[in-house]
Amino acid sequence: KYVLIDQDIVPKEKAGIDFDDRGYHFGDGIYEVIRIYNGKPFTINQHLDRLYESAKKLDIPLSTTRETFTELINELIIKNTIETGIVYIQLTRGLQPRNHLYQREISPVLTGFAENLERKDELLANGVDLWLTKDIRWLRCDIKTINLLGNIMAKREAADHNCHEAIMHRDGTVTEGSSSNLFLIKDSTLYTHPATNFILNGITRQVVIKLAKEAGLHVVEEAFPTDVLAIADEAFITSTTMEVTPVRSITGDVSATLEIGPITRQLQEAFKQLLP
Ligand code: PLP
Repeated sequence: KYVLIDQDIVPKEKAGIDFDDRGYHFGDGIYEVIRIYNGKPFTINQHLDRLYESAKKLDIPLSTTRETFTELINELIIKNTIETGIVYIQLTRGLQPRNHLYQREISPVLTGFAENLERKDELLANGVDLWLTKDIRWLRCDIKTINLLGNIMAKREAADHNCHEAIMHRDGTVTEGSSSNLFLIKDSTLYTHPATNFILNGITRQVVIKLAKEAGLHVVEEAFPTDVLAIADEAFITSTTMEVTPVRSITGDVSATLEIGPITRQLQEAFKQLLP
């Protein structure tokens, strides 16, 4: 297995992480997960745009060019002979003896890996069960930070209730999943939380909104309360690894049983058409 560290791709055994890495002490860093289909990175430019945005929002100086990132990502894919999988890219603020106050002069530490991951055919076909719980995260969920404690706690809670994914609400307003965005459909209109500081603006979310509009569907980017989940016609979650995955039930702070409906199927199919 080959991994990326700084600008080098090396065998994993040869790559070491420094004790003073701020990612390690504070979760002070950002990341991206990019899908690989047919040996090619999917929507790589949108992911790199978001990586630069996250860096900017956190005042992390990022001088690596888009061309260099693209080359490194392609090299990771080739060296690891990945056909269907993911590339993970992480950037921490850099090395500094532990101190809350960061220095602007330090250089970020870039790491990454690639691994095989098949498309989730069974889940794409049959849907998933969701667990609705409180959103306990901070107020900058728009930044794709490696600091994911609120997300991983929700995910564990969902798994402990035999659910595949957690979806979250802030005081009764539905936000998003622990690692996905949520859409619901009512009377042929799609509803999803707007891209504010309360959610991560998923790349798959953006692709699906575009596909839906191209198909002539009405898309409303407005926050909705939890009780609407119980009267939805259809619902699905989106993410880089889950694509457009239907929802078949929601338990936890609400209780809903859903049909996997025609609009979800239509969008799944439209998404599939984009794959290389
Ligand atoms: N929301 C959160 C909190 C996430 O962590 C993710 C992906 O990991 C998403 C949404 C979906 O984003 P994308 O479609 O870019 O993978």
